Amino acid sequence: MSKRSSKPSGKSEGWRRRDRKVLWHPFTQQSLWEEEDFPVIVRGKGVHLYDADGRRYIDGVSSLWCNTHGHARPEINRAMKRQLDRLSHATFLGLTNPPAIELAERLVAAAPKGLTRVFYSDNGSTAVEVACKMAFQYWKQNGRPGKTSFVSLDAAYHGDTVGTMSVGNIELYHGTFRPLMFPAIKAPTTYAYRCGRAKTLEECGRHCLEDIEAILKARHAEIAGLVVEPLIQGAGGMITQPPGFLAGLRTLCDRYGVFLIADEVMTGFGRLGRMFACELEGVTPDFMAVSKGITGGYLPLAATLTTDRVYEGFLGAFKDRRTFYHGHTYTGNPLACAGALASLDLLQKRGALEEIRRKIHRLGNLLQSFYMIDRVGDIRQAGLIAGIELVEDPSTKKAFPWEERTGHKVVLEARKRGVIVRPLGDTIVLMPPLSITERELTGLVDRTVEAVRAVVG
Ligand code: PLP
Repeated sequence: MSKRSSKPSGKSEGWRRRDRKVLWHPFTQQSLWEEEDFPVIVRGKGVHLYDADGRRYIDGVSSLWCNTHGHARPEINRAMKRQLDRLSHATFLGLTNPPAIELAERLVAAAPKGLTRVFYSDNGSTAVEVACKMAFQYWKQNGRPGKTSFVSLDAAYHGDTVGTMSVGNIELYHGTFRPLMFPAIKAPTTYAYRCGRAKTLEECGRHCLEDIEAILKARHAEIAGLVVEPLIQGAGGMITQPPGFLAGLRTLCDRYGVFLIADEVMTGFGRLGRMFACELEGVTPDFMAVSKGITGGYLPLAATLTTDRVYEGFLGAFKDRRTFYHGHTYTGNPLACAGALASLDLLQKRGALEEIRRKIHRLGNLLQSFYMIDRVGDIRQAGLIAGIELVEDPSTKKAFPWEERTGHKVVLEARKRGVIVRPLGDTIVLMPPLSITERELTGLVDRTVEAVRAVVG
């Protein structure tokens, strides 16, 4: 499928030279970047990205987990162009606008019952940070000022602001900044593959719930909220949770008077075959943070949804200082909201979610072919998300030395085969746009299998 030529032409190389001179890329060791022939993407159509030399790649990670309906989707393009001619931005401080109002109504209607209020921001980190700040302030002004800390799971990732790093637990990303952060309480996670005390995911989940209950029981008087990526933790390595785990957290939070904050930044908008992951467990969190797929992957937009109870906890006379003093310049951006409305239309079309569920099933079958490769230690899947963990020795689960960058080598091999993937350490992530066809899905998995084989097979 890839239209590769054997040698890169000057077009990409010219852009690369300019990039190397002025840019600094996220999560990137720039000294190595400077040696790489990274793709220069100039166009997208459907699940494909095209580079400046006309090579075609399957976008195997939905442009970092946010593209839902494919690139250059006509329905979203039309809606945004229409909005562009009317109004691209006006502040949400003191003003409002129709796309933001309509989108909030649609989000409330689609969200788990009981989430009735929408607070906009512009990325996943801010959506979670807003939830934490609201939870903190709620308790402060509603008679429980001692509830100031948060619980989050090991391997959690909720963003890169100092606040969201504080509830994150990935040492490689967060360790350096620990002195800047507020202290949070780390609970164990459901990483069954490396769980010392359980043989199955279900058993591992039960142990975690017991430990979390012990934490809440002992310290609920100081805990404002428990933050969790529902059903699957993303950046921590695509760590899945057993059925009943999220519902168990809901029960515990109710029992000990702690807010449940669901970070649906990765899982929201159809990724798990339902509009939101919480639906799969019949759970209404106290806060739900969404972003990424909200605009179909077109523009930065985020929302924090919450309940009447929380909202009412902020009402009062001006002089009472119960106002939520938080906001961003691009809050409620009408262009992004218009794109989000068009994206929601596509997702709410009759049969759309059922079709995604068929693809999820198909992905599950296709993933089995990775097990033919010796050094595939574990395969984890939730919805249209998969993590394939590579290990040096499957019998002992010994990891490759991390500085060897085995995962990154797979990325480079996949790229040669016309596939864009990204690893989390040595876990290869597949997370294609939800619009991918079954044929394209087969192509994505087959080429990734070839790439893994080329590196570790
Ligand atoms: N929460 C989760 C679960 C995520 O996966 C991410 C990003 O990957 C974030 C929060 C942060 O989102 P952003 O990168 O838009 O700030």
